[in-house]
Parts: sequence; structure tokens; C-alpha cells
Amino acid sequence: MMMKFAIALASSLFAGAVTAFAPAVFSRHRVTKTTQLYGRKPFISGNWKLNPQTKDEALTLAKEISASITEGSPDADIALFVPYVFIESAMGAVDGKLSVGAEGVCPEIKGAYTGAISTSMLKSIGVQWALAGHSERREIFAETDDYINAQCLRIIQEGMGVMLCIGEKLEEFEQDLAGSVCAVQLKKGLKGIAKDDLDKVVIAYEPVWAIGTGKVATPEIAQAVHSKCRKILAEMYDKEAANGVRILYGGSVTPDSVDDLMSQPDIDGALVGGASLDSQKFGRIINFKSAVPV
Ligand code: PEP
Repeated sequence: MMMKFAIALASSLFAGAVTAFAPAVFSRHRVTKTTQLYGRKPFISGNWKLNPQTKDEALTLAKEISASITEGSPDADIALFVPYVFIESAMGAVDGKLSVGAEGVCPEIKGAYTGAISTSMLKSIGVQWALAGHSERREIFAETDDYINAQCLRIIQEGMGVMLCIGEKLEEFEQDLAGSVCAVQLKKGLKGIAKDDLDKVVIAYEPVWAIGTGKVATPEIAQAVHSKCRKILAEMYDKEAANGVRILYGGSVTPDSVDDLMSQPDIDGALVGGASLDSQKFGRIINFKSAVPV
């Protein structure tokens, strides 16, 4: 049974694909052209995690990535989530061509929280975006849905944008629980967030089995979960609100998979780990070619 599933999963994971996109919380320098029916502006983001190892490497990488954004690039929001120590120098290196965000925040504002970084500290150096709920934070750092919700609330209260990561583990995917897991994580993560603040929220659907494994979800699998997430958001808020929220896909996205993923109607962008450490690869991802005109 498991073997049968594994074969089916493997063949579906590496299958072909389709098209897509998203709204605008944040406009960059260029004029915003909308893509889909609901005008959601694409959002391509990179998550550097515990990389690179030196400031010089971070500067070089940030510069090279920013150089890949040209007048001919798709009209998308671009962000890099980088280690705290590199934020300011990366901001200087990209010269306003993209946003540099934080990989996390402490929901507390000040006090005895050794090692923590607050939203006020981040805002004071110009940070506008932060991640919350990444599966590595959930797993390795034991961040709970309640803690993640507190981070989201704090980030929004500060007027920053939050990228809330959600996604199921392999055994949950195998039991057809992706939609249910995402429903729980969305409902708990966004608890107390008003409809009017949804313009500061981006969702990143990141199946845990696809993160750092090289097993990118097929566009069809990703589209199905994204569509389900949008339905859940419609139940939580309403259809109009749900249609305005950008939902990105994350999990082993590469130059080979980005175009087909971005051609899906409910995939509004990407959160990219490994490939965001390679400026050639991430540059190609930023310059994706969607079947939907951008
Ligand atoms: C991530 O860390 O959010 C991620 C998607 O990583 P990767 O692209 O390496 O799978």
C-alpha cells in the first residue's frame, strides 16, 4: 500500500504543469500591472535561512540578485528574507529594487527575552516584511500555532507585512489531509486578524515534504491545495477578501519548475529556499514566464 502510494506520489511530484497570479499590499517602484481576474500582483521571495556564512557573501548575493531585476522583468513584488545580521547591508546592496525582510520576529515588544528581535527594532531599520510559521521554526524551534498567531498579530499591529507559511507533512499528504492541515494552520495563524488587515498578509503554502528535498509539488497538486486555501479564507472572511490574498507556493522551486507553477490560477508567487542562494537560479525564478500575462 505504502509502496503503491510512494510510486504514485513520485510520479505525480515530477509531472508537468500549468499557469497564474496576485493583489498588491506593497507596490514596488514600477507601475503595478495586474495579472489575473482579481488583480493579484505576483510575489517572488527567497528565504536564506542560516546562509550565507559571511557578510561579504551576503552582499555579493544580494547585489547579483538585484541586478537580475530589469525593466523586462515581470511586474512582481520581490523580497529576500535574510538573517538579521545581514538585513541592513543587504538593503544597501539592493538599492531599493527589492524588499529585505526578517526570517522571524519575537511577538513580545521588549523585556527579558534574550536573543529575541522585536518588530520595533526591525521597523526602525526599515524592514517591512517578516516570515512566520515556517515549518523549520515549527519543527526545530517548537513554535506553536498560538505563538505564530501572536507573531502575525504583532507584525500587523506594527503595520508590517507577514508571510504566513503553512503546509502538511508527508504522512499527512499521504492521508489526503493537506487541506485539513492548511485549514487548521490558517485558522489558528490568522485568528484575530481583521479582514481590513488582509492586505498585509501573504500565505506561503509549503508542503513539508517538498522543502529542501528536490521534490517540487506538481502544479496540479499545488493548485488544488491553493484553491482549497482560498476557499478556507472565503469561509473565514468572505469571497472577495479571499480572492485578494496572495498565496505563494514553496518547496524546491527551481528555474525548471517556476514557469508552470506560476501559470496556475491560484499560485501567486513563490517562496524559495535553496535556489535563492544561487543568483543565476533565483534571477531566473524572478524572471519567470507565466502562461498568464503579467
Ligand atoms: C523554504 O525554506 O521555504 C523552501 C521552500 O526551501 P526550498 O526551496 O529549498 O525547498
